[in-house]
Amino acid sequence: MEFRVENARVELVQGDITRQDTDAIVNAANPGLMGGGGVDGAIHRAGGPEILEECRRLGGCPPGEARITTGGRLAARYVIHAVGPVYYNGTSGEPEKLASAYRCSLTLADTHGLRSVSFPSISTGNYGYPVEQAAPIALRTVIDYLRRHPGLELVRFVLYDTPTYAVYEAALHTLAAEPARPQAER
Ligand code: ADP
Repeated sequence: MEFRVENARVELVQGDITRQDTDAIVNAANPGLMGGGGVDGAIHRAGGPEILEECRRLGGCPPGEARITTGGRLAARYVIHAVGPVYYNGTSGEPEKLASAYRCSLTLADTHGLRSVSFPSISTGNYGYPVEQAAPIALRTVIDYLRRHPGLELVRFVLYDTPTYAVYEAALHTLAAEPARPQAER
C-alpha cells in the first residue's frame, strides 16, 4: 500500500530489502558496524566485501545514529547503516533512540542528495523491540520528517514477513485516524 506526505510517496511492501533499487537502503546495523545476522547479514552477503571494508574505516556508530557507505554490488547506490536500540523495557530511552535512528538515516539521505530510500523494521528482530510498539514510531518519524523536508520523493518500508507487514499496515490506519496534531506538538 502507499500514501502521500506532501510531495513524497510512502510505500509499505513485503519483501527483501537487499533487492530494492531505491537510491539507498537502510541497514539495521550493530554499533560495531562489523556485520551480523538478520538484515545486516543479508546486506553484506548481497553487497559484497566492499561495504564491510568501508564500515571498518568508520569506527562504529552509537545507537540512535546512522552512517553511510556505498552499496557495493547492490542495486542501491548507498547503504545507510542505522543502529536502533536494543529493547529493554520500553522506558529506557528506546522510543527516542528508535525515532532518532530513522531521523538520522533520513537526514543522511538528504545531505547526499538522494531521492529514495528503503527501510527495514529497525530493532524488531534480534534487538527485540515489539513491532506493535516500533511500527507507529517508525511511521510517525518518517511522516513528520517528510512534512518538514521537501527533498525525498520516496520512502519505502520493506517488511520481511506477513505479520510484520500487517502490524505496520494497522499502525498506519491508527495514525491516519488520529486527529491532526498542531505543528508545535509534532
Ligand atoms: P535488529 O537487530 O535491529 O532487530 P534484525 O535484522 O534482526 O535487526 O531484524 C529487523 C527486521 O528485519 C525483522 O523484522 C526481520 O525479520 C527483518 N529482516 C530480516 N531480513 C530481512 C531482509 N532481507 N529484508 C527486509 N527485512 C529483513
